[in-house]
Amino acid sequence: MKFSDLGLSQNTLKAVAEVGYQEPTPIQEQAIPEILKRNDVMGIAQTGTGKTAAFTLPMIDLLANGRAKALMPRTLILSPTRELATQIAECFQQYGKYQKLSMALLIGGESMVEQQKVLSRGVDVLIATPGRMIDLCERGRILLRDVRVFVLDEADRMLDMGFIPDVEKIAAKLPTMRQTLLFSATMLPEIKALAQKFMKFPVEIRVDPPMSTADTVEQFIVKTNERGKREVLRNLIRSENVQNAMIFCNRKKDVDILFKSFTKHKFSVAALHGDMAQGQRTETMNAFRDGHVQLLVCSDVAARGLDLPDVSHVFNFDVPVNPEDYIHRIGRTGRAGRAGRAFMLITSADFKALAAIEHMIGQKIEEMSRFSVEMDPAPEAKKHRRGKAKKTAPHILKNQKSKKTEPKEEKKVVKTETIKKKPQPKKQNGKKEVAPKAFEKESAFGKTMPAFMMNDVKLS
Ligand code: AMP
Repeated sequence: MKFSDLGLSQNTLKAVAEVGYQEPTPIQEQAIPEILKRNDVMGIAQTGTGKTAAFTLPMIDLLANGRAKALMPRTLILSPTRELATQIAECFQQYGKYQKLSMALLIGGESMVEQQKVLSRGVDVLIATPGRMIDLCERGRILLRDVRVFVLDEADRMLDMGFIPDVEKIAAKLPTMRQTLLFSATMLPEIKALAQKFMKFPVEIRVDPPMSTADTVEQFIVKTNERGKREVLRNLIRSENVQNAMIFCNRKKDVDILFKSFTKHKFSVAALHGDMAQGQRTETMNAFRDGHVQLLVCSDVAARGLDLPDVSHVFNFDVPVNPEDYIHRIGRTGRAGRAGRAFMLITSADFKALAAIEHMIGQKIEEMSRFSVEMDPAPEAKKHRRGKAKKTAPHILKNQKSKKTEPKEEKKVVKTETIKKKPQPKKQNGKKEVAPKAFEKESAFGKTMPAFMMNDVKLS
């Protein structure tokens, strides 16, 4: 199938050809005609499948006629992270270059005054993160009754981040006569329930079997112990032909620790997590995208949905808590048919989580045993042994413990981290990471932020 078979306008086809896409991806092939017919669409697609273009291309054509009124956007796209929202905005800019559409990006870290100015002029496309949207809605600075197309991108991540109550509040302000497009990499029952609530007879499009991983990604586990994790990872990176890699940690503080450790060992590395200032995040992203740094240590939320082509490797420093995150993480490599390699470090405490992942992807992950080191005793056995020792001779155990020497480097790294002690945002409404909201109030974009994010963009 060709792009010209999908019903897109000549202007949009011209822009797509200039971007260099030869043919539509499966999600584009199926979603674009349905969206142009004004049907609600529920798209189950992983990152890297071309889903952003699947909804932005037809939206550009649907918006070609008509004009936005002040404070009343004609379309609303909700995205869980600032980076993802920025990427969607870039797609609109690229694909919509031959249409006259105005766009605003409402994300945390940007000056509220600027955003209000843009909105007051009227925008065709409004791309926002839920926290900032709620803020502006509550101040009465934005009216949603003219929204004709509502897009909920990465719905499963919204759920995971605890954004669904915000999304529901926003959706309640939208007109009932609208088109709703919902995209999610995974189809959890909660997402299905959400779709039923927000959508009318949606056309369901799946481009991959649920919970599948791309065939182009070779996956391996490497066994290790808690103390040896960083060294095992360094050995792996040194021996693999790493062009560039994303390294995932479960916690922000581990991102910091690992980043410092890599820096100490003279790796070309940057870190990305939700507590960093927006300007810094953008700068880091650009440096990694442009090949100025080889390794990006990151948390799931910060890295979700980022469009970073040509990532040769993904390393799971920690086994993800949610098996779905494994798919998202390794989806960063092996994109658009390219080959990629994904490694996951396994400690004795991780076997249950590993089993859940293997069950979900329907395959056993091969061990790359030449990098494996001896594991700690299984947590159960450890607990048992400790209990026994305490009962009989606690002092012996204590003495033995004090003799244990930590590797020099690891000790130092941990120390630096404790000194820094960045205040962590509190859990609110069950949200796992509240950085977007908490952070919005205290920071502004750095000078690296593209100008179009600060202003509406006339695409001509
Ligand atoms: P997404 O799933 O939207 O994050 O897109 C992943 C990557 O695929 C991005 O780098 C897009 O530029 C690229 N892409 C989107 N559509 C196509 C296409 N039809 N042909 C080739 N690459 C594409």
